[in-house]
Amino acid sequence: MFAKEKIDQILDSYKDFKIATICSHSALQIFNGAKQYGVKTIGICTEKSRELYESFPYAKPDEFIMVDDYSKIPADELVEKEAILIPHGSLVEYTGDGIEDLAIPIFGNRSSLIYEKNRDKMFEWMEKSGLKTPRILKPDEIDGPAIVKFPGAKGGKGYMVVNNPEEYYSKVKEGAKTMIQEFIVGVRAYMHYFHSFDGEAGYKTSYGRVEMMGIDRRMESNADEIARQLSVGANIPISFTVMGNQSLVLRESLLPQYMEMARGVCNSSQNLFGGMHGPFCVETIVTDDLEIYSFEISARIVAGTNILETPYSLYTHGKDYTTGMRIAEELKEAFNKKKLKEIIY
Ligand code: AMP
Repeated sequence: MFAKEKIDQILDSYKDFKIATICSHSALQIFNGAKQYGVKTIGICTEKSRELYESFPYAKPDEFIMVDDYSKIPADELVEKEAILIPHGSLVEYTGDGIEDLAIPIFGNRSSLIYEKNRDKMFEWMEKSGLKTPRILKPDEIDGPAIVKFPGAKGGKGYMVVNNPEEYYSKVKEGAKTMIQEFIVGVRAYMHYFHSFDGEAGYKTSYGRVEMMGIDRRMESNADEIARQLSVGANIPISFTVMGNQSLVLRESLLPQYMEMARGVCNSSQNLFGGMHGPFCVETIVTDDLEIYSFEISARIVAGTNILETPYSLYTHGKDYTTGMRIAEELKEAFNKKKLKEIIY
């Protein structure tokens, strides 16, 4: 892991800062948000993606750094340009374990991404946060619908549902490293939060405040269109490849619980790895008796924030607001107060 002290030294050398990220996932939102706060942006881009990222005048980066391959982040060049890297799902995926060693300031705490990437650690984190989680099963304990997750699967691709140990053994290659979870039936709600070191909105945590930004529901194929296939008599196994996102509002009686959950996640993150800063998401399913199960934490901006946030960000910030804007505002605030080191690693 690249030492925090070295990141602090790099930050000490910055006279100003720019926002940089890989041109993928939520980059348009991040660049657009930065523009609205007058922060300059750098897009790390491949030739293939450049045309797309040049085609949105209000969301294109001020400059591009061209790369052949997103797994190779040009750290020296970025540091020279006084960049702060914003992690998103593609960045975490492309850099893999290499993200720990990147010699460049990353918004938030890179240790949180290590918890995000390891399902066992993530479940430990969720349990320490007081979240209710689906049962984790050994193959021989499968006693009803269970979802089988493979390592590294992104966006739910390749997951399957099995109903008993025999089905598991017949469908999953021997020795495959899987996590099997009880399949929770209910309405999914992907909660977008933002932890701020000195914000005034939201719930107090042990090291700042946590705001609710919005909620989405992922559209996954073919799970979310399953009625169509059943109605035409097709019987294709359920799958969970994410295709997009829709916004959602919750019945208000659930909100206090969701705010407490966010606080729990932040407070336990401080105990486990020194705290989490900026955007994060808790992926949940609400059952018909209104129990909330959490099955994942994403310790960074999630793609579901790309829908202009649901009214919670309006109630928090008084205007239509995006997580991209929130990131730029937070970094500016921290820069002006000389507190970047508190929220960057
Ligand atoms: P994940 O990779 O953990 O985000 O899961 C991908 C998708 O699989 C989710 O968006 C859900 O639709 C579904 N899913 C994951 N875990 C569960 C679970 N325990 N019960 C029911 N559906 C799940």
